[in-house]
Amino acid sequence: MSLIDIHIHRNFLPDQGPQNVYQCEFCEAWHLTSKSPERNDRLQQMIDSGEMKRKQQARRWE
Ligand SMILES: [Zn+2]
Repeated sequence: MSLIDIHIHRNFLPDQGPQNVYQCEFCEAWHLTSKSPERNDRLQQMIDSGEMKRKQQARRWE
């Protein structure tokens, strides 16, 4: 599940939950992090545009 999907499905506020993804130096997989100094660009865009809130609300009404 992607960073974006997790925020939609878990209904996180912008500061909650994982904030970014990074490629692990040990296993080379992509991991989520809540401690990144920078929020993921795509996540930030969705928050700024209101798209995240709309998707979270749409999901709540399913
Ligand atoms: Zn790893």
